[in-house]
Amino acid sequence: MLHDPFGRRVDYLRLSITDRCNLRCVYCMPPEGIPLKPVEEILTYSEFLRCVLVAVSLGVRKIRVTGGEPLIRRGVVEFVRRLAAVPGVSDLCMTTNGIGLAEAAVPLRQAGLRRVNISLDTIRRDRYAEITRRDRLSDVFSGIDAAVSADLLPVKINVVLLHGLLPGEVDDFVGMARETPVEVRFIERMPVGCLPSEGYVSADRIRDRILSLPGVRPAAGGMPSAAVTYEVPGFAGTLGIISPISRKFCSDCNRLRVSADGRLRSCLFAKETLDLRTALREGKDDRDVKALFLRAVAAKPEGHDLCGGSFTAEPMSRIGG
Ligand code: SAM
Ligand code: SF4
Repeated sequence: MLHDPFGRRVDYLRLSITDRCNLRCVYCMPPEGIPLKPVEEILTYSEFLRCVLVAVSLGVRKIRVTGGEPLIRRGVVEFVRRLAAVPGVSDLCMTTNGIGLAEAAVPLRQAGLRRVNISLDTIRRDRYAEITRRDRLSDVFSGIDAAVSADLLPVKINVVLLHGLLPGEVDDFVGMARETPVEVRFIERMPVGCLPSEGYVSADRIRDRILSLPGVRPAAGGMPSAAVTYEVPGFAGTLGIISPISRKFCSDCNRLRVSADGRLRSCLFAKETLDLRTALREGKDDRDVKALFLRAVAAKPEGHDLCGGSFTAEPMSRIGG
């Protein structure tokens, strides 16, 4: 088992399988997109798989496939099938913007994906087009329905809290949790990627709204996660809050990340990364690749210093959110 110097067990690996995306969310990318890595610098699926095999041999049990937008990389279903077949992987999930899920949900489930997180910051068409710079909201709704029907459960809806959030929009999502069996999670925007001049929106006001719902109570059970989750009587789904800024949860962080171009990172905000791609392509053996994972875990910082201004401005699409 992997433990970092602060006693945290590290058993979760996120793979950003592409830096490409079909949206241009204002907080993640500029309108023209980010400079993309040449295709030959992106890890092949076999290279990602090798990373996973090594990580699992060290005690990693949970794998998340993310990006960029993972569903736009060709062959993703087959890749999921290969991941699901790795002995020792007990949780296999994906973060997606939901476009493309209508077609992919069933094949992904059959390939062994357990569940999905779908990013959706508003359910109003004009606001969605403003935030993502694309008019694709109806595709996301179809994707959510398909994920629920395909049993990719729990379906979690990630809502990044943005400046300009309209009062009614929080209630739109409360309505979604009332009607749909999904876990809606409001997430504080972090200072990575595109940094708008406006400050971040604290989750506190959302918490107040959730706590005002009749009969609301902290959710029982569920998988350990960064979210504080609430159940409301009569609701098909739940509501949750993830506050990396106002109530940081670094003390429970169990994550490592591999970026699309094969950089291993022990913290979303780490400036130092380790070069897995070169090790893999130079034919290093598993011991050397393991050594890189061990170095990353040994260097895992105790916590981020976002309030102190120390962070990376690399976009999440490249790091793997
Ligand atoms: N394209 C996929 C998607 O949007 O779900 C996967 C990659 S995206 C980088 C992963 C998650 O990171 C999304 O939920 C997105 O909202 C979130 N994200 C991106 N930039 C962020 C930021 N600055 N603060 C908080 N969350 C962010
Ligand atoms: Fe694409 Fe996800 Fe970034 Fe939006 S948050 S631009 S969907 S990678």
